[in-house]
Amino acid sequence: MQDQNVFAGAFVDRVGERRKDPEWLADAITAEDSLFLPVWGDRCLVRHGDPACCLMPRAAVDHLLDPDELIFLGLFRNRPAFAFAIPREEAPPFVELGEYKDLRVIGTELPPDEANLAAHARALVLWHQSQLYCGRCGGKAIAHAAGNARLCSQCDNTLFPRVDPAVIVLVSRGDRCLLGRQASWPEGRYSTIAGFVEPGESLEDGVRREVFEETNVHVGDVHYHTSQPWPFPSSLMLGFHAEGLSDDIVLNDAELEDARWFTRDELHSEFPKLPFRISIARRLVDAWLFAGDR
Ligand SMILES: [Zn+2]
Repeated sequence: MQDQNVFAGAFVDRVGERRKDPEWLADAITAEDSLFLPVWGDRCLVRHGDPACCLMPRAAVDHLLDPDELIFLGLFRNRPAFAFAIPREEAPPFVELGEYKDLRVIGTELPPDEANLAAHARALVLWHQSQLYCGRCGGKAIAHAAGNARLCSQCDNTLFPRVDPAVIVLVSRGDRCLLGRQASWPEGRYSTIAGFVEPGESLEDGVRREVFEETNVHVGDVHYHTSQPWPFPSSLMLGFHAEGLSDDIVLNDAELEDARWFTRDELHSEFPKLPFRISIARRLVDAWLFAGDR
């Protein structure tokens, strides 16, 4: 079994102190060994053949760069790495090298460090595009801290990249676990219960509320498992195992089309189809399925 979630892993040394060091950044932007990661719309360029991110040298991308909108990601394989955006309405460049792919599709096939780098790039590129103006005064916001924040040009309000915490939980009760499905999912596929944490809630509170809202099942003990960056566009999935205290299922908020208790034997069979391997949901299911009672 994989030892960490797809997209996770501290593969990029973020060297936060360099973000406000204009001399170091100026050198890094022009250095021959620096790496530049294009993001066209919301997609990353993946090389033909063995899947790998296209990490471009400065000379190849020079004509496309807007120095004011470059995003410094950190040091990747000890080399400065930057992301830059190409608007979706423009023709995608470098298509002779590869294809622009959705990370949800290609994430498991990329080397883990490149999946981490690309997720980081995608999240920041999309965040910048959603924060063109200050939410306080409506002034124009400009990239700041080497693309790791934005600053209002009118009132100096600093906007920081957004990360939305979401809980995702495998509830079990003896030899059964609780899975649900949304109407839009492929036929037969079921997954763990998930939802965004709300203001004023602890993670444990969020787990108990979400499970109750979606299935009417009461939850007791809640145990943290692992987390997964999920940049579609800006979630952080916080994975848990939890103990179910009641059996009866009612779809209280109608978010799910169906929810059921499944035994381990059923999970080993053709039905249900389990969550895709890219997601922490599958890892939570597998950890329970191949372990003891929890
Ligand atoms: Zn402002």
